[in-house]
Amino acid sequence: MHHAEAATIIVETQPKASHYVGGAPMEDDAGTPFESTNPATGEPIARIHAATKSVIDHAVKTASGAWREWAARPGVERGRVLRRAADILRARNRELSVLESLDTGKALQETLVADAASAADALEWFGGIAASISGDMIPLGADFAYTRREPLGICVGIGAWNYPIQVAAWKAAPALACGNAMIFKPSEVTPLSTLKLAEIFTEAGLPDGLFNVVQGGRSVGAQLAIHPSVAKVSMTGSVETGRKVYAAAAEGLRHVTLELGGKSPLIVFDDASLTDAVSGAMLGNFYSTGQVCTNGTRVFVHRSVRDAFVDELVRRTRAIRIGDPLDEATQMGPLISLVQREKVLNYIAAGQEEGATLLCGGDIPIVPGFEGGAWIEPTIFADVTDDMTIARDEIFGPVLSLLTFDDEEEVIARANGTGFGLAAGLFTRDLARAHRVAARLEAGTLWVNSYNLTPVEIPFGGVKASGFGRENGWAAIEHYSQVKSVHVTTGAVASPY
Ligand code: NAD
Repeated sequence: MHHAEAATIIVETQPKASHYVGGAPMEDDAGTPFESTNPATGEPIARIHAATKSVIDHAVKTASGAWREWAARPGVERGRVLRRAADILRARNRELSVLESLDTGKALQETLVADAASAADALEWFGGIAASISGDMIPLGADFAYTRREPLGICVGIGAWNYPIQVAAWKAAPALACGNAMIFKPSEVTPLSTLKLAEIFTEAGLPDGLFNVVQGGRSVGAQLAIHPSVAKVSMTGSVETGRKVYAAAAEGLRHVTLELGGKSPLIVFDDASLTDAVSGAMLGNFYSTGQVCTNGTRVFVHRSVRDAFVDELVRRTRAIRIGDPLDEATQMGPLISLVQREKVLNYIAAGQEEGATLLCGGDIPIVPGFEGGAWIEPTIFADVTDDMTIARDEIFGPVLSLLTFDDEEEVIARANGTGFGLAAGLFTRDLARAHRVAARLEAGTLWVNSYNLTPVEIPFGGVKASGFGRENGWAAIEHYSQVKSVHVTTGAVASPY
């Protein structure tokens, strides 16, 4: 029944043109062609050309001609455009979700609530606060100063493939609210939904040139990061790419926000609600087939509740429904690509070689009718130790590692014993312990008695190798604007000369 409902929407996956520049689709056949494939079937669903230098230059030119006029408008007007875009996204949520499921392989059950819907939340929230972006008045005796919060200019966004439209909106919404223009490069693996976002902005009344989409892989990203007219680069992706983007941006002293990977801890204390903790661990490892940067892939369980926790976790994990992502009953789609699956399978093999106990999963499931897909079973390893490869590296697949602990001090030290610091979670009914441990875990976001909730109201970002800068919440405004201080003297100039 659900399937039939989803199937009633016919989504055209081939875009009108590869790019969207200056308020209109744009093509340049001279760019290197590449295909976007449906990860559930392995079949191509769109053919795109990477941006040439002329596309990039055109995007920069149109952005640079647009942002000053946009920034000069009252915030309430900028906000209205963003809120209209949010409404259109919501009205078209199902169609956009089907497109996102086709491009990413994620289950429609998820994309319906987590992708365009989250993008709409960001546009609505930043649209709402655009009118409140203001400075301070600082009294200085008879004189005074005031600050103006001004835009940076042209901001570049570079996206990852796991949440394409969400990542684009999380960057575009605060950038545009502050009066900037954005040039966005989606991941070359998931190029489609961002083009829809660009069309929706135009339909909502965003002036041409303020949100441009240019396609391509690392070379296009690298060209954007070093472009002399670009004021800021905000990138979501791996630590390795983050380093390169940071170095490239440093050359031109550009502002940078980096949202990178993680190997986050999720701690289950002995007094936790085990059912909730199991739910948290499953959401924090298997949602989006494990391809979530904040995933709590190191699940530390107190020794006294370990067996009960593991029984429930394994039972519920075995019941996860894998299948056609467009069937709304499906709970898990494939990985993004066969390349990614190879990487995940290698980690699973490493887990077994290094002595972890495979409790469930670890294999390629047969999904009838989808033989070419990048399927993988949700996988749980027990008896994992801190030094094992699967406990140290970001796997970016549905592989959960169970570790056992005895006391609070020990688990805090072990949880922090990683170069990453994106997120952390803890389950306990002890109020004091929750806040005591939350204060000591090295992470940009920490969940108490839940996992992976990222409402737009709260700042989101990493510490340590997981990046810096913040998206969402008021904090994002600070990363898409700069403060100008205006000192005003009301009397004569006190001069010694
Ligand atoms: P990736 O690093 O391979 O690519 C990210 C983006 O950077 C892509 O658009 C890519 O084309 C571009 N790129 C690659 N090399 C570049 C270069 N030298 N200069 C400029 N741009 C370049 O990451 P991915 O495989 O797409 O995504 C998975 C990674 O992203 C994981 O590590 C995951 O944890 C991380 N991630 C982080 C967040 C977050 O908010 N912290 C969210 C989602 C994903």
